[in-house]
Amino acid sequence: MSFRKSSFIVDCGRDPEGKRQYFNTLSRKFILLPGELEALAAAPGTDARVLEFLKKGKWLTPAASYEEELRDALDLITAAGSGSSALSVVFTVTTKCNLNCSYCFQNNAERMDAPAGICAALPGFIRKEAQARPAVKKVRLSLFGGEPLLRQEACLALLDSVQRECADLSLQFEAGIVTNGLGAAPDFWRAAAKSGLKKVQVTIDGSEKVHDAFRRLNGAGTYGPLLALCGPLSETFQLSLKYNLNRRSAEGFGEFVGDLAARGFNKANTHIVLEAVKAIDYNEAGDYYFPADSNEAGDAYAACAEAGLRAGWQVTLTHLFQPPCMYTQVRPSSLVIRPDGGISRCISVYNDDTDFSAGNITDAAPLPGNAAIRAVIEDGAGNCKAAKCPLFPVCMTGCPSHKKLKFGTIKTAFCRRAHIEKTIKDLGRIRSKDPKVFERLEF
Ligand code: SF4
Ligand code: SF4
Repeated sequence: MSFRKSSFIVDCGRDPEGKRQYFNTLSRKFILLPGELEALAAAPGTDARVLEFLKKGKWLTPAASYEEELRDALDLITAAGSGSSALSVVFTVTTKCNLNCSYCFQNNAERMDAPAGICAALPGFIRKEAQARPAVKKVRLSLFGGEPLLRQEACLALLDSVQRECADLSLQFEAGIVTNGLGAAPDFWRAAAKSGLKKVQVTIDGSEKVHDAFRRLNGAGTYGPLLALCGPLSETFQLSLKYNLNRRSAEGFGEFVGDLAARGFNKANTHIVLEAVKAIDYNEAGDYYFPADSNEAGDAYAACAEAGLRAGWQVTLTHLFQPPCMYTQVRPSSLVIRPDGGISRCISVYNDDTDFSAGNITDAAPLPGNAAIRAVIEDGAGNCKAAKCPLFPVCMTGCPSHKKLKFGTIKTAFCRRAHIEKTIKDLGRIRSKDPKVFERLEF
């Protein structure tokens, strides 16, 4: 069988020592090679072990054409959920909140608590889904809002009931909470840890001044109280400080990292999570936000990631490549449950949009597979095929939820090629400068 260079490789140029750096969009890995990948693959004297390594890592492919590679990638990505050993369930305890952030996507949804009947249905839903997926060994429950800490008793009851259900099914259980961090006493955190809570994610909107302009509680800023709370939490939980990137917050990132240094965080347990928030029409602060396809957004990701890594933090870039995501899997390994029990295949869609909603947790049958998604993506990929775009595995014609907002349909492509390529090269530059520091970056 003959092999050639995979079409899903981005050439990131030479590193300072003259080695060639490539990024594989299928495996999401970088590699440094002494020469050009295609030349290495074709040279008769190349070590057989090197060739084997390149084949295994999908740097080389036996596929005859780009179309064949694209179909293989689609097979792999759309089937990923069915083979996943973990089932992740994001449960919206309430869409109510004690803050009033202008950009919150819940501003577009009815504010309500999940009723007792829906909370009680969750363990049975998890049983039904886990039994329909033989590969599942672990359940991850994420308590989501609004602000879940407005309903602390309900949060503890949900943790207990799902933990018991998992024990009964001999499945591992791990839970997290996405919260603004305010309003829970130490007793709550102790009880939640006992009931399986391992991860806490809180949101930061910038340096103190910028954050406090967005996130106020009873008229006062929340930045100081939040950092004071999170330092001790990082001793017990894996803590994600999700830093929303926009034009204002990007400028203040250095100040934020400086503030963390003085607060006694357990760095081994703490990740800084960077995410550029999308501009959306109901957000009155829309001018602050980067357009989804702008180099400005890419520059902010790269500059803040590098600053966080250099200060010794673990950094995660989230929604950098979108999709693949829960929407692009026939049987997603992650699901979002709205307070009314409705199931969504997208973390950002909270309405009954038929492109994204998938029944209710009270339905008798397990979630139906979305076999049509493969054809929808391939139908929109005409330009990707014509251009033999190397980014297909990290783009797949773009984020369906963003397409729906921007174009009114998911059956089209939203191309961000220049933006994604530049971002990959920026990451390659950070890696070239210091591979050890780069190991602390997840994306
Ligand atoms: S459709 Fe877009 S916003 Fe929704 S989960 Fe997928 S990538 Fe994220
Ligand atoms: S939409 Fe653009 S960036 Fe995405 S795979 Fe197609 S050509 Fe590439």
